[in-house]
Formats: sequence, structure tokens, C-alpha cells
Amino acid sequence: MRTKVIAGNWKMNNDITQTTELINGLKAALAGKSLNATVVVCPPFTSLGTAQQLIAGSVITLGAQDVSLYDSGAYTGEVSVGMLKAVGCTYVIVGHSERRQYHGETNEIINQKAKKVLAGGLIPIICVGETLQEREQNITDTVLTTQTTGVLAGLTAEQVERSIIAYEPVWAIGTGKTATKEQAEQAHVVIRSVIASLYSPATADKVVIQYGGSVKADNAKELLSQPNIDGALVGGACLKADSFASIITAV
Ligand code: PEP
Repeated sequence: MRTKVIAGNWKMNNDITQTTELINGLKAALAGKSLNATVVVCPPFTSLGTAQQLIAGSVITLGAQDVSLYDSGAYTGEVSVGMLKAVGCTYVIVGHSERRQYHGETNEIINQKAKKVLAGGLIPIICVGETLQEREQNITDTVLTTQTTGVLAGLTAEQVERSIIAYEPVWAIGTGKTATKEQAEQAHVVIRSVIASLYSPATADKVVIQYGGSVKADNAKELLSQPNIDGALVGGACLKADSFASIITAV
């Protein structure tokens, strides 16, 4: 039985004051609720320390939005796995489509980052997903197969079982367009069957595969009730405590 994981990707939003307000608001919104999901918040690097202090003793866990390929040294602007671990992160998003689009991240780079995260004992949330053009060309399954194979290359079955895959159709991210539950479920089935053929059905069965792309309180329940959708990676709707809490409690 896979535990559902609901992760909020804050992107480049919230300074320390706003971080304090949002985490306190989320804690209040979740207080007294019995939850069926793991809750993750992924603030910007500058807010991780504040968030770590505020989530202590709560159900909320911490993730980062990206990580360096390197351990330390002359890599201006980069943050290592060790640093993320020291500030209390358990999860790291790797290969978000915005990293692919604006920072030239390829499947190979994402694969190396996932390996770094796993070697450091953290859990990568590895993003895959087709563009609108690719969906319209009916090559979604091929794109997902290539991306999933590429980002998992060289990982052991045990490492894959510890990883989270986020299926994020690029056309649904921040656009208000959500994949239908059928489209999302079908993509998750494709990703899980790629993992089954690369590893084994037993390994594929253990991997948490999240959906991401304009998840909101009013569509979370139907998406999250699909058999292969094991959680959500949430952008816009995680920036308000009440709407993120409604997605979490929809599980
Ligand atoms: C995301 O950025 O991962 C995302 C899914 O964003 P949104 O929920 O705003 O579409």
C-alpha cells in the first residue's frame, strides 16, 4: 500500500515573514485533522531554515526545489545535498519543467541529481511530463517512456522504490488547465509500466507517482482517487494555507 504524498512547490515565492505566515496558517488549518497523506512543503532556499524551525513537532516535512550536482567548492549560487540535509530537508524536487525549460536541465542532469539526492539519504521528487505540442502529436507515451528511462538510468531497484516520480504535464502547470482524471491515470499507468519493465512489477508497485498541474481543492479528490495517482505536486494552490490544507484533506 503506497502512502499518498502531497507536496507544495512554493517556487520563487515567500520571504521569511511570508514563510512564517504560511507555515503557521497551514499548521492551524491542519490541526486536529486526521491525515491520510505525507505533507511536504518546498520553500525557496532562503526560507528553509525558518520553515525547519516552524514545522518542528508538526506533521509537515521539508523539501527543497533543486540541488547542486556537486558536494562543495567553487560553484557559485549552488546548494548541496549535505546543506539541504543539515537544514532539515527530507525531499528534493529534481527536474521540474521550469528547470528543464529555463536552466537547460536534461534527463542526464536530472538523473545525476537524483543519484546525488539518493546517495545523500534524501528522497528525490523526479519530474517528468510532456508539452502541449507533444500531447497534440500523440507522442505523450513515448516522451514519458524516454524521460522515465533517462531519469532513472543506473538507479538500483531499492533507490527507485525510495524515489517519487511527479507526472507533470507541462501544459497543465500554472495554466489552470488540469489533465482529466483519465488522462492523468493513463500517464501514471505508462510511467508505472516503464518502471515495471526496467525493474520489476513489484518495484513499480512500490513507487509513489504524484500528479502535478493545476491541482486545486475542487479537483484534488477525483484525481487522488485514481488507483495509480499517489499524491500531488502542487504549485499555485499551495501558496494559501486553506487551499493547500483542503488538497491534503481530500486524500
Ligand atoms: C508545479 O509547479 O509543479 C505545479 C504543478 O504548479 P501548478 O499547481 O500551479 O500548476
